[in-house]
Amino acid sequence: MDISKIAIGRDATLHDALALLDRTATGVLLLSSADERFERTVTDGDIRRLLLDGANLNDTLSLLSDRQSVTLQLGYTRREALLLMQANVVNHLPVVDDNGKVVELVERSKIDQPVLLSTPHMGESEIEFVTEAFRTNWIAPLGPNVDAFEIELAEKLGIANAVALSSGTAAIHLALRLLDVGPGDYVFCSTLTFAASVNPIVYQGAEPVLIDSEPESWNMSPQALERALEVGRREGKLPKAVIVVSLYGQSADMDPIVELCDRFDVPIIEDAAESLGATYKGKASGSFGRMGIYSFNGNKIITTSSGGMLVTEEKAFADRARFLSTQARDPAPHYQHSTIGYNYRMSNILAGVGRGQLKVLEQRVSERRRIYETYRKELSDIEWIEWMPEPAWSYSTRWLSACTLQQGGSNRSASALIQYLAGELIEARPIWKPMHLQPVFSDCSFFAHGNQPISDRLFDTGLCLPSGSNMSEQQLERTINAIRRYAHA
Ligand SMILES: *Cc1c(COP(=O)(O)O)cnc(C)c1O
Repeated sequence: MDISKIAIGRDATLHDALALLDRTATGVLLLSSADERFERTVTDGDIRRLLLDGANLNDTLSLLSDRQSVTLQLGYTRREALLLMQANVVNHLPVVDDNGKVVELVERSKIDQPVLLSTPHMGESEIEFVTEAFRTNWIAPLGPNVDAFEIELAEKLGIANAVALSSGTAAIHLALRLLDVGPGDYVFCSTLTFAASVNPIVYQGAEPVLIDSEPESWNMSPQALERALEVGRREGKLPKAVIVVSLYGQSADMDPIVELCDRFDVPIIEDAAESLGATYKGKASGSFGRMGIYSFNGNKIITTSSGGMLVTEEKAFADRARFLSTQARDPAPHYQHSTIGYNYRMSNILAGVGRGQLKVLEQRVSERRRIYETYRKELSDIEWIEWMPEPAWSYSTRWLSACTLQQGGSNRSASALIQYLAGELIEARPIWKPMHLQPVFSDCSFFAHGNQPISDRLFDTGLCLPSGSNMSEQQLERTINAIRRYAHA
């Protein structure tokens, strides 16, 4: 806004001030001295109090007390401005330069909106499916939405069976259980992932062995997997399963991984929690292992607020998963159990949300890919940003736009950029901290890609930028501009 339009001096009358307030929409005037040094703000309330104290409209603003208003200095962050406004219960703050002259007026409503990493994005039809569940009183786990959601997802991805569950974590846990993973067993898992990939191994009393990433896709290194399998064979510690994670919407390099696991006769569980909608050589990510899992948590590419799916070509696995996820009730008229079950089924209401979300999956994928492309294009002149690669065999959903920063410069680092963006109320996050660096998994074996672990480097230098498919153009532009300012500071 043009601040000269709300500038006023002490020689102005109360009438002038009221007339000016009436003409401008800000609700605040900037009172400066003759040498243009900012003194204080003037509001309707200030004038009202003078009038109540007996002043009249032809008196001048020299009656105003000379209290100093709170101001911001140039170089302020949004976060500082917002905290200062909250602390002083004001909605405006003048920014003053070194000479005390106002150069800008910051309005709360223009700066208080954060840009978040990835938020739920509802489509048009979710509410209809949910309403139908209410109308028919199917407020239960199981029901027509659950059946339909499973069928629709399986058809869309070209997989024979899908089982809707309460979370992606529950799906991984069930998959391990279906492969009879138990105490004394080893399970290999990608190290660069979210803890939910690995935790279920420990739920089953088995021991995780962590496998490094390769630089082309950031996912499991076939080279490191091969060494781990060879060492496993030599030491009689071959794994009961390999959990292959597909990170940030991109499939792992499945051909060599499947070839290795076939050679060593180890089943694959694909943790495709982040890669629903992605493909590897044209085939759905999540459809390469004996079982695959997806997550519909709130921040994932589509969401049921909380939920997951187990997919498999093998009907026996799907049947058993349905059985175990509903408390393992034997087919008897009375309640009879011959094994331990879980309460892992998805509710019919949430499956209704899932059905609506599934209809817009392709749209969400192309929106996220466009966000990634925009970052990449608009920031292409900053040569020390390296974008997460997309190998020729991959069609990534770009669930999160991820990049690494080349080391160099004085304080250029992923953590410094994340902090800088936080000051602008823009949420960026580090790359997942690899599991072999986590205190809780520090005793687990780890196999690196080469001499230097790739995942350590990605963690040290990487970050994820806001990527929600419902980001506005302004939010995207604001994020890009903030990164530019950081780069050129
Ligand atoms: C989100 C996520 C999970 C867990 O899914 P939930 O539905 O949250 O239980 C597992 N693995 C990865 C890689 C994830 O990103």
